[in-house]
Amino acid sequence: MQILIADKAGFCAGVRRAFHIAEEAGRSDCSWCTLGPLVHNDGVIRYFEQKGIKAIDVIDDVDKGGVIIRTHGVPPQIIQKASAKGFLIQDATCPLVKRVHEVAELLRGEGYDIVIFGDKDHPEVQGIMGWCDNKATIIANPDEACDYAGTKKLGVISQTTKDEKDYFAVVSALISKSHEIRVFNTICSATRQRQESARKLCQEVDLMLVIGDQCSSNTQTLTRECQQTGVKTWQIQSAADIKTEYLEGVKRLGITAGASTPDWIIKEVLDRMTEFGDGGAPQEQKQEELVQENQVQENLNEESFAKMEAEMADLATPEKGDVIKGIVIQVLDDEVMVDVGGKSEGIIPLREMSFKDVDSAKELAKIGDEIEVLVLKWDDDGTILLSKKKVDSKRAMDELEESFNQGSQIEGTVVDSVKGGLLVDVGAIAFLPASHVEDGYVKNLDEYIGKTFSFRIIEFNRHKKRGSQIVLSRKQLVEAERLKLKEQFWSSIEEGQTIKGRVKRIVDYGAFIDLGGFEGLLHVSEMDHVRVNHPSSILSEGEEIDIYILALDREKQRVSLSRKKLIKSPWEIVLEKYEIGDTINGKVVRIAPFGAFVEIEPGVDGLVHISQLANRRVEKPQDVVAIDQEVQVKILSIDPEEKRIGLSIKEVVTEADNQEVQDFMEKQDQALEQQADTKTPAEIAAEDQE
Ligand code: SF4
Repeated sequence: MQILIADKAGFCAGVRRAFHIAEEAGRSDCSWCTLGPLVHNDGVIRYFEQKGIKAIDVIDDVDKGGVIIRTHGVPPQIIQKASAKGFLIQDATCPLVKRVHEVAELLRGEGYDIVIFGDKDHPEVQGIMGWCDNKATIIANPDEACDYAGTKKLGVISQTTKDEKDYFAVVSALISKSHEIRVFNTICSATRQRQESARKLCQEVDLMLVIGDQCSSNTQTLTRECQQTGVKTWQIQSAADIKTEYLEGVKRLGITAGASTPDWIIKEVLDRMTEFGDGGAPQEQKQEELVQENQVQENLNEESFAKMEAEMADLATPEKGDVIKGIVIQVLDDEVMVDVGGKSEGIIPLREMSFKDVDSAKELAKIGDEIEVLVLKWDDDGTILLSKKKVDSKRAMDELEESFNQGSQIEGTVVDSVKGGLLVDVGAIAFLPASHVEDGYVKNLDEYIGKTFSFRIIEFNRHKKRGSQIVLSRKQLVEAERLKLKEQFWSSIEEGQTIKGRVKRIVDYGAFIDLGGFEGLLHVSEMDHVRVNHPSSILSEGEEIDIYILALDREKQRVSLSRKKLIKSPWEIVLEKYEIGDTINGKVVRIAPFGAFVEIEPGVDGLVHISQLANRRVEKPQDVVAIDQEVQVKILSIDPEEKRIGLSIKEVVTEADNQEVQDFMEKQDQALEQQADTKTPAEIAAEDQE
């Protein structure tokens, strides 16, 4: 008996991947289980049980450890539940099954009624149902498709391991049952290849053995495919199932295996065949060939898996609403051209590039950039209209929603003022009500435009049609920051300290000074040594000044401030600047019967007694001086304790008169000397004789 083995048989790439994930997990210290059998094969399940990895039916069957998600995938709610219970998760869902999940979710999101071609009890189909909110109709065969009631928008997908011909028959029955139909060929190529390879082999043999579990869908399909060729076919789970009568009169035997059948079971079957003899190649050699062939097949599977996924993604025609990746191949001022992997090119108009108002797309992209875009529509000429803005917006909205749920802070820049508040760019445009800008009233909102702050999201509703979907507050953060600064202020402040403060508000009786976390009043009487008519005459709002901590009342949280403590008093200036005997300028500021008061420094007046007003007897001071008259005075006395200064105008006048006489005399003497210098010797001799 000659034995021939199908080109494609045994483990597919998805099962092999799951097998490796489970083996890797089994090497860790954690206790792992699989949610349902990892694959539909008893031998594989027993193999992992020996390694301590058991299959459980529901999450509640275990309390802790790690959960491996089976190749067939599970509904998202189960993953969420496992996460919520604190389980470690290893997702061994076949990437091709995951792709079906994505399609189901997309169709559901776009309002399609969904038909799944599959077996309602199969775990893969149950998993897919979870990804479309359990709102799909499951159709097991073309007859059921004929009975489908119909709908306006219909999306059709298939269990990955179903027979492709049956799927086409289902689709053709459904086409007339909806106005719009979207069909995704989600049948796995590994399944198809095994079927094709088995059908081909059927033409060369007079018996087929299909190795695989009874509950393995792809093995069942394989068996059915072989039977439909007319060749006698038996499905066996292991070598133990082979009966002698199967092989009676068989000259050429074909062997194939389902995608979940491991090599060691195929090898066991071949070993068993030695008992029945081999009319072709020696049995040992046959087994060796099979192992080698399968090894090559495994390697090819390994290598081709990622390629297969990539090809699937590439060949899939992007549909409206798909989010795809592309490479920028040309950038013009008003559009960006993107290679999205298919035959068509994608165009992003400038308005779809960003929320930012820019003049040229060159500010936002360059050739070679990889970008994610949303397919908006197909144009008549075959180009695809794309939007980067919408993808960015969705991503931003996802992040913002997470910040909102977690109550975390976000950063944003104020971009405009509108009625009742400000617009803030936080990745999307959000509204900041005026009452939430600060912890108090804000006079001029425009001052905030262009500035960046931290915010908290107080309202988030991405489905809101009117008004803003995102409402922000800064008030809570400002209050919290202020409280923190206040605590820091009171823990570090001491009487007698000089600190920096900023004039926040000026009122008639003083100025409120921001001391960095706390606000104190600087009373007008503490502003200067001299009388201050109005605080605004010496301070202005926003100005930073040095301020002296005069007194603290920690209980009542009051701070007394002084500015005048930090500046010299007029008397200190006088004592530093003047001495008795100095002649200085002053202004008559007051006149009394006994004399006139002359201001010599702001806030310091000296008295010119009536007897010191002139060199003669003065009846009334007004006879000599007038208010506001500038006069020269001589300091006669300084009494710092009594804060009195005695001045004299008379002394200045007398000194001036004396100086004048002296100057006159000096001039005369000089004139005489000059005369003497100009006489001749004869004149001098004549004068001497006389
Ligand atoms: S048969 Fe296909 S879909 Fe199923 S596990 Fe294998 S590769 Fe994945």
